[in-house]
Amino acid sequence: MFGLASAAIGVAISTLRSWLWLSPQHRTRTTLVVLMYHKISDRTCDALTVRQRDFAAQLHWLAQNGYTPISFAELIAYHLHQTNLPQKPIILSFDDNYHNNFVLAYPLLKQLGFKATVFVPVGYVGKTNAWDDGSEPLMSYETMRQMTDLIEFGIHSHSHKDYRTLTADEIAADIAAASRTAAESGFPYSPIFAYPYGGLPKNPVLRRQVKTLLERHGFLCAARIKGTANTLPLRDRYEICRIGISGYDTLDDFIAKLENGKA
Ligand SMILES: [Zn+2]
Repeated sequence: MFGLASAAIGVAISTLRSWLWLSPQHRTRTTLVVLMYHKISDRTCDALTVRQRDFAAQLHWLAQNGYTPISFAELIAYHLHQTNLPQKPIILSFDDNYHNNFVLAYPLLKQLGFKATVFVPVGYVGKTNAWDDGSEPLMSYETMRQMTDLIEFGIHSHSHKDYRTLTADEIAADIAAASRTAAESGFPYSPIFAYPYGGLPKNPVLRRQVKTLLERHGFLCAARIKGTANTLPLRDRYEICRIGISGYDTLDDFIAKLENGKA
């Protein structure tokens, strides 16, 4: 009796041990959440603007729960060269290159040593978000250079037009202009791309053409908006899914998005 009970306990313990051992490994190897932010504000919030104190709470939750923010460069290295990722990797990305990212997000990232990625519409560096209401200043190259210890910068098109509404020629011209402008700037951009408004053309032929164009211009991956985690290894480097964080998300909403995808 004692022997059987002892054996049963032994099996239970070894099952528990293997579950504990496998669980983080499992998460590391099979899923990667990529979060997408836009503006950070110390005054207000909306769908695209997260209050600085909420952003701080989200970062501290990630730190307390063992997440390690990585760059897209590390994701590409994992994908192409089988390098290792940390146990609980996550990518923090920001679209549009808002100056408030430097003022209000970067200091918090710096405190925690967290990496992040900013996707830049390269036709608007040092200007304002003219594709929207034009009221928000965007970072200059001088400002961007001050963040390169932790921040990688990728391309978010040239003109910030929605590729779902453009012809193949218009998309090709925008990608070419983005590549040319980025190269001429001399700024150390990473060869990574985020689709404006998070979308690819629905037409499968055009969709494939866009990815081929990006590859021809040297981009190694591209991110879209889709409220779900990515399965690793990636099935399609040109359709990395990102989960948008809204300024209306509570910390519980944030955790739910992280664990279950879109709220
Ligand atoms: Zn954008």
